[in-house]
Amino acid sequence: MVRKTPLIFSEPLSDRAGFEIWLKLENLQTTGSFKLRGASNRILQLSSEEKARGIIAVSSGNHGRAVAFLAKRLGITARVVVCSLCPENKRQAMRELGAELILYGDTQDAAQEHADRLIEEHGYTSVDPFDDLHVIAGQGTIALEALTELPNANMIVSPLSGGGLLSGIALAAKSISPDISVVGSSMEIEPGMVRSLEAGKPVHVEEHPSLASSITGAIGLRNRYTFPIIRDFMDRAVLISEDSLAPEMARFADREGMIVEGGSITSVIAALSPEVREMNPKRAIAVISGRNVSLSTFQAATAAHC
Ligand SMILES: *Cc1c(COP(=O)(O)O)cnc(C)c1O
Repeated sequence: MVRKTPLIFSEPLSDRAGFEIWLKLENLQTTGSFKLRGASNRILQLSSEEKARGIIAVSSGNHGRAVAFLAKRLGITARVVVCSLCPENKRQAMRELGAELILYGDTQDAAQEHADRLIEEHGYTSVDPFDDLHVIAGQGTIALEALTELPNANMIVSPLSGGGLLSGIALAAKSISPDISVVGSSMEIEPGMVRSLEAGKPVHVEEHPSLASSITGAIGLRNRYTFPIIRDFMDRAVLISEDSLAPEMARFADREGMIVEGGSITSVIAALSPEVREMNPKRAIAVISGRNVSLSTFQAATAAHC
């Protein structure tokens, strides 16, 4: 079910950057994002007793969709808690896969607190979106695949939110190529991981509506794994402005022929940034993390740039 995704050379992006940019196309992953890798690695190791209790996940949309997809195929009951920031197309996809969608609050934090109460009350099995070693290991297979195909890449740029994606990538990539640089792209308006790194511990951040709704939000005050892994293994974070998303999404659709979501385009914007240029990469891999933006949202956001 988890697809080995293509790694393609991008001529237009390499020309603009002045170094090679390769794209790891997780937008072509089953369910439209990389989240299936981590969720399947977690869910497939659950005991039958844990599965029988039913699973519950908090999600900004894509993790819940991966969980719902797996639960349907494995015959497990799945509940997904989302907040009002979760786009309608992602809610719809989860409902269609048969998950029970629970809408709660206006932030991921509020949704998480609600899920914690439901777990306490009903004993559901939690499938965390990022702060879980099986999830992190699953996301790390992206780097294993990419560096098997392109062993002399010397940089990986990937979106960074809760940090499951970048933790897995950094651990796998640096095990294979100790000198590779790992760069995270986060939204400049309240990057939960970056603010936590600055504070030296997980801190709370405000959440805001964004075209990059898959990468907004905090990392959880009880964060156990992704905070220390990102702290120790990420070389640099690049902060992305809201205004830069739509023009680059339009350009990517035009030049690469693929519509990708806002959170996903941040790795492209980061790969082209002065911060990355300063690091002098020769051959960079940008992780295209997902495609799940509705056509109407894409059209409305990019109309002025087409
Ligand atoms: C979840 C997600 C991310 C961020 O992953 P984290 O593990 O939370 O850092 C990036 N892009 C897309 C499309 C996502 O769904």
